[in-house]
Amino acid sequence: MGTGRIRPDQMERTWSMAPAAGPDPTADEQALMDLALDLHWTWNHATDRLWRQLAPETWDSTRNAWSVVQNTPRSHLREMLATPAFHGLLTELSRSHAASRTRPVWFTQASTLTPPPCIAYFSMEYMLDEALPIYSGGLGNVAGDQLKAASDLGVPVVAVGLLYAQGYFRQALTPTGQQVALYPINDPAQLPLRPVTDSNGDRLRLPFQISTGRIWLRAWQATVGRTTLYLLDTNDPDNPADIRCITTQLYGGDAELRLRQELVLGIGGWRLLRMLGLRPDVCHLNEGHAAFAALERARGLMEDLGIPFMQALTIARAGTVFTTHTAVPAGFDRFTPLMITSHLSFYAASELHIDIADVLALGRGNAPAQDAEAPFNMAYLAMRVSGAVNGVSRLHGQVSRALFNPLFPRWPQVQVPVGHVTNGVHMPTWDSAAADALWTTATGKDRWRGTHDTVERDVRTLSSHDLWRCRCLSRAALIDFITASHRAHACFHGERRAQCLPPPGFDPGILTIGFARRFATYKRPNLLLHDPDRLARLLCSADRPVQLVVAGKAHPQDTAGQALIAQWIAFIQRPDMHGRVTFMVDHDMSIARQLVEGVDLWVNTPLRPWEACGTSGMKVLVNGGLNISERDGWWAEACAPDVGWAIGDDTATTTGPERDAQDAESLYATLENAVIPLFYQRDAAGIPQQWMAMMRESMARLTPRFSASRTVRDYTQGYYLPAAAAYRARLADNGAKAAAIGQWQQKLDAGWPALRLGRMQATQAGDVWRVTVEMHPGPLAPDMVAVQLYADQPDGAPAIFPMAAGPAGAEGQITCSVEIPATRPISDYTPRVIPCHPDAAIPLEAAHITWLERG
Ligand SMILES: *Cc1c(COP(=O)(O)O)cnc(C)c1O
Repeated sequence: MGTGRIRPDQMERTWSMAPAAGPDPTADEQALMDLALDLHWTWNHATDRLWRQLAPETWDSTRNAWSVVQNTPRSHLREMLATPAFHGLLTELSRSHAASRTRPVWFTQASTLTPPPCIAYFSMEYMLDEALPIYSGGLGNVAGDQLKAASDLGVPVVAVGLLYAQGYFRQALTPTGQQVALYPINDPAQLPLRPVTDSNGDRLRLPFQISTGRIWLRAWQATVGRTTLYLLDTNDPDNPADIRCITTQLYGGDAELRLRQELVLGIGGWRLLRMLGLRPDVCHLNEGHAAFAALERARGLMEDLGIPFMQALTIARAGTVFTTHTAVPAGFDRFTPLMITSHLSFYAASELHIDIADVLALGRGNAPAQDAEAPFNMAYLAMRVSGAVNGVSRLHGQVSRALFNPLFPRWPQVQVPVGHVTNGVHMPTWDSAAADALWTTATGKDRWRGTHDTVERDVRTLSSHDLWRCRCLSRAALIDFITASHRAHACFHGERRAQCLPPPGFDPGILTIGFARRFATYKRPNLLLHDPDRLARLLCSADRPVQLVVAGKAHPQDTAGQALIAQWIAFIQRPDMHGRVTFMVDHDMSIARQLVEGVDLWVNTPLRPWEACGTSGMKVLVNGGLNISERDGWWAEACAPDVGWAIGDDTATTTGPERDAQDAESLYATLENAVIPLFYQRDAAGIPQQWMAMMRESMARLTPRFSASRTVRDYTQGYYLPAAAAYRARLADNGAKAAAIGQWQQKLDAGWPALRLGRMQATQAGDVWRVTVEMHPGPLAPDMVAVQLYADQPDGAPAIFPMAAGPAGAEGQITCSVEIPATRPISDYTPRVIPCHPDAAIPLEAAHITWLERG
């Protein structure tokens, strides 16, 4: 860093990133900073008391411990530390913080790998806390919540992302309800981050050779409990201006900028981990954005083992997991071949020693190579560099298998290698203080740190009285928050703002409904507005009134989404809607938290099956909120009559106005006839007993299933541990297994066209079919392939019977045979040949397939 080098001991003590002011911090001050720099305080409320004592106003308004520490005058801090009570509290909290980092964890029971594996997690965005605003929405939510759950469970994850100088845009509204995009600066000195330092204590600065010269990446680290998040940025003063701007905005700019960001994230991110001496066994790609990491990982293996690119990639692939998050092809990042060529040719030639055509081939469909215009698809790249792939809900797994089917031509859709792990949310992040207290009484403090086997049973013991009390407290707290934020904003924006949003005037005794998420058209944030008068009648009922709170941002380039916001504002401005509906401007994590804590009912209206999973509805579960949703994403798995309500029809395949009308009708009718009456049906004590029964079931059954701790356990057992073992096996003996797989693939590619299936014979003997088929393997060794008898099953996994190979006949043909139950007609079954290798993932690593053609 040229001047101003900072040694590690000094580094630790830097008060802020600003030039050191005054004397070095004392040990106590250091202890306080360590607590504030561990984002553990965002979900573990043990330290809340400390921050509140130090700076009650800052803490209550920002809930940002780092802000509290930074903005407390040193003189005041010294005074506080001199009081035995505050000092004692700090000592106690520091001690328990240290203990929390070494306590026994679930992961040690789950893994038998020695040494324990290291899992690198890559994501474009992380939603951890308002204090670190580098997220947009759902994808960042998934990444942030899983990172926290990994910390709780002790799963050894290091995360990698980008530090955006302006993050995602912040929302303001004009008096007429037009969205305005604002870009406040994320000053790294004010964020709960430390610069990454090398072993000499110098700030780490990653040199990066591009075709036009050398550029620098800077690196930061956030502590997230037991895990670390590394963030890269390009805002180094020595970089050319266009390079410095790469990490300015999240999801801003054009495709070219996106490509540059993805190169920094993937290639820069993996290079950073290597520079830090980390050699992760598993690389988890949270969405295809970071798929270039696999190229750099292969480059590292080339360097370590002295092997060619393809062999290195084959090793890396075994340890790469790809999670896809989109339900539509338009959701995949695509780049023109020209863009890829101009940004990657230099890297391909000088670092990977391969032709740019080989890079391009990794990101394209199976169209003939001469199609020079075929775009480069990041999801296809991710698919080709991964040993395991998953969608984020059961339904989304199914949808993804259809989306990726083109990469596996002639394979049945059910066998496209995409599984699913349904997302979950980090309950300790999203629970209210009242809910936390209730859950702790019923299920103890460690409820999200293990397998939570007893949670369901324990929650059922909660009384309706206690549940209702918690619900009413949480609703009242939300209404206070809504009122206070309206007042604060109105103060700040004056008359103009008051014109746009009248005072909410909410009532703590009324059924409170929430809708808040990105205003993307597929989420249909205006479905509730389909018939504005019907909605108005429903809200204004004299004996069973309802109040509604809406929030959400539309991407600055999404004019359709912005029009939907304006539509809501117009509705809110109707004089008869005062006190019935409000809009919370600038939906962010802190608003989301308040909403999910306080609402009685959460509404979700996506156009099925576009919502890959959806997470906001899961956040209300722990707080006793109920869901009414389209049977899409997670709700398709969760919904049952005793835990919530479904809208629409899960067989509908139409889109457009007709479908919207049907779904809106279903939504209104369910609210009018089921939801609202249930909420207002009270016993003598004023408690809605049936609503409480539903709330209890939803909490007991759904909360554990849709918690991020379940998700991270699923990833660990189903993906990370097998991937780590497979990676280690391929790495052994200088990559011998990977070399063998490479040779096997080459032979398959060369020999497959000559392979064919011949005559099939089937005879019925009692209750079995005896089936034989001739296979002509051509130049392939018979054990490189497997012959099977295949039949589709209308619902579920196909029926597949391996056929045993006999000796080779005169012309090299091999007779394969099997006996199968004669429960279905033989015409249901088709013989086929697929690749076979004990160490390869099929069809991910070899998608050849030949079916018997029956004339
Ligand atoms: C949870 C959350 C989201 C994601 O909500 P979905 O229902 O998955 O769309 C988006 N933004 C914020 C601020 C959130 O807290």
